[in-house]
Amino acid sequence: MPYGAQSRAVTPELGTVVQKLRDARNVLVLSGAGVSAESNIPTFRGEDGWWRSLNPAELATFAAFKRDPRLVWEWYDYRRGLIANASPNAGHRALAGLETPAREVFTVTQNVDDLHERAGSHQVVHIHGSIWEVICLKDGKTYEDRRVPLPGLPPTCACGGLLRPGVVWFGEALPATACAQVEDYFHKSWIDVALVIGTEATFSYIGDWALRAKRSGALLVEINPSPTVLTQYVDVKLEGKAGEILQEVKKGLSLNPGP
Ligand code: NAD
Repeated sequence: MPYGAQSRAVTPELGTVVQKLRDARNVLVLSGAGVSAESNIPTFRGEDGWWRSLNPAELATFAAFKRDPRLVWEWYDYRRGLIANASPNAGHRALAGLETPAREVFTVTQNVDDLHERAGSHQVVHIHGSIWEVICLKDGKTYEDRRVPLPGLPPTCACGGLLRPGVVWFGEALPATACAQVEDYFHKSWIDVALVIGTEATFSYIGDWALRAKRSGALLVEINPSPTVLTQYVDVKLEGKAGEILQEVKKGLSLNPGP
């Protein structure tokens, strides 16, 4: 992907985004950890993402898990607790509210939490897995386990195998089914607006999907308080917190809801 080192400031154009959304039939949302930051789920890159002075980027790897499964599970058990006690914020709710009988919203999230669904979004693909799933390293089965806290760490399967969190760690392949769902969406849909929200977009597939939507005619919008590798390619940058900006978008749409 032709990412340059520099990004340019893009003037916020909330009115343009509202206008485009008003007439949109298909909206693609690419969301990242920043969307859940206002629900007090820390991003990995923020200072509050560190846990017991350990860097999340070093804990979220299979190598770390192999070295110390209990430590990695303690971190996941802590994060499962945070997520279980969190509520969807204004950003999640505004995104869910974009869905109407005339406007389809397809969300591809890197988040392992379920706050989009709990806010009411219907089509959500978890490209980095789910914190509520576990995978048995012995029999390969994947299943849901929502117990918080987990009764014993590291947890084991009924077959006696060690369980791992059902999330995609750094350096691992994306789940095939989730990728196929995204591909299918791109083949079937004419995307009017693509919203890239709360993500650094450093994983190449996120940037690729965003640029693919733009190439096929979508208005590409980024919502993030900071510049990212994608900023220089977007049509509109709305600089600020997802919850605050999406609330403004929602307000704009409710004043002029469209067809
Ligand atoms: P990231 O690339 O998604 O970076 C976080 C981004 O959020 C940054 O660009 C930051 O500027 C932006 N941001 C911070 N506060 C924001 C706000 N209020 N509104 C909008 N944007 C805001 O991801 P990461 O934190 O490096 O995490 C790496 C991976 O770890 C994720 O892709 C995910 O798989 C996992 N993760 C998941 C969660 C979750 O499920 N909530 C949280 C942290 C990490």
